[in-house]
Amino acid sequence: MAIATINPATGETIKTFTPATADEITDAIERASTTFESYRTTAFEQRAGWLRATADLLEAEADDVAKTMTLEMGKTLESAKAEVLKCAKGFRYYADHGEQMLADEKADAEAVGASAAYVRYQPLGVVLAIMPWNFPLWQAVRFAAPALMAGNVGLLKHASNVPQCALYLADVIRRGGFPEGCFQTLLIGSKEVEAILRDPRVAAATLTGSEPAGRSVAAIAGDEVKHTVLELGGSDPFVVMPSADIAKAAEVAVTARVQNNGQSCIAAKRFIVHTDVYDEFTTEFVDRMKKLTVGDPMDPDTDVGPLATEQGRTDVEVLVANAVGAGATVLTGGEPIDQPGWFYPPTVIGDITPEMDMYTAEVFGPVASLYRVGDIDEALQVANATSFGLGSNAWTTDADEQERFINGLEAGQVFINGMTVSYPELPFGGIKRSGYGRELSEHGIREFCNVKTVWVG
Ligand code: NDP
Repeated sequence: MAIATINPATGETIKTFTPATADEITDAIERASTTFESYRTTAFEQRAGWLRATADLLEAEADDVAKTMTLEMGKTLESAKAEVLKCAKGFRYYADHGEQMLADEKADAEAVGASAAYVRYQPLGVVLAIMPWNFPLWQAVRFAAPALMAGNVGLLKHASNVPQCALYLADVIRRGGFPEGCFQTLLIGSKEVEAILRDPRVAAATLTGSEPAGRSVAAIAGDEVKHTVLELGGSDPFVVMPSADIAKAAEVAVTARVQNNGQSCIAAKRFIVHTDVYDEFTTEFVDRMKKLTVGDPMDPDTDVGPLATEQGRTDVEVLVANAVGAGATVLTGGEPIDQPGWFYPPTVIGDITPEMDMYTAEVFGPVASLYRVGDIDEALQVANATSFGLGSNAWTTDADEQERFINGLEAGQVFINGMTVSYPELPFGGIKRSGYGRELSEHGIREFCNVKTVWVG
């Protein structure tokens, strides 16, 4: 895949970039490794100051950088700006809390026959971050902010279709005051990842993206016995039970499905509705999906912009055609929009059966699938009938049902009467084929730390 800015709203190639040479990659690794030796000795207070300065810059530059994000991957300008501000919040969160999260943890010295015993968190070193285009700043910041606060340094291999976002992020972090070499963007294709990961100066890796990419990186890292965090796809369930506020559930369901033009790993993708409220929910949901405005993502009136890549739209078309060919019912949408750019309309599909690919695959576009269930047991069975386990949503005001969903949904996150969102304050990650490890909160900052046991006799 060429490294290029291609406007998904028009299909026009705006700018192409020359990939880094082998020498440039080697130099970057060396710079990162050398920087780590001094950077790890800087005080938390100093790092927190740089994080806050970076946050200030992001806030001041939000309007401009949002335009670049929209140009490169098609998200609405409004949501791009919100993403930049969320990144600033993420930097500030770790500036405010990182030191306390990594403070020495006292253990019971007497029980282990020591005069003192505790845990010290130390940075691992150079971490390779392989990131996707869908939240071109936030996905990378979710790694960068805690990693830098912990004393690690980062090498970013961003998706090939968001090079300007990738370059901006390294630049803004440097302008925030972080020493040269703390966070570098490498404009490279995915074939270059293996050699970098095998380099002894690189300690660990984090990847957000597809299952095949995750499997490949984890296999190489496993061979090198290096730590990885994987945040892969999801096919999140959104369960609606009779006690729920149906109008509210339908309203939130629309946002949960079409956010980021339908391209979010934690978007609700499968809507599993109790038969008693199925018709009511479906009518309201389909009605709201039909009313969304699809169009130019720079236009403030647009709700849904284009998909980020031509291939991404083809993947959605193929999944919908497979379901329709096997008897699924299209309640709205269902055909790509015939105009330049990679637009796909908000779509709702009913009568999905287990034979259809859509039953198990992740649909990375604004396509909702609907399932009618008779009771909570069936709801849980359908919700868990996927190899993914990232987020999940359940709508019910019944306390017993809430407990059943909290315990029974196979996912890294469960949101009751709300949609799955990532917050700096809460751990983020999945189980099953959605990956492993956690980002954000204190769990995220400790992922790339040596949890060192200290015993003093
Ligand atoms: P990819 O997994 O292909 O891309 C994500 C990142 O991984 C990019 O930086 C990509 O680089 C890199 N990459 C791809 N293959 C490898 C590899 N073998 N070794 C190392 N790095 C690799 O995602 P796509 O953009 O192709 O999207 C396809 C599917 O991935 C989506 O339909 C969705 O299911 C899932 N996805 C999930 C995301 C999430 O948030 N969890 C985000 C994006 C996608 P390059 O761009 O150069 O190929």
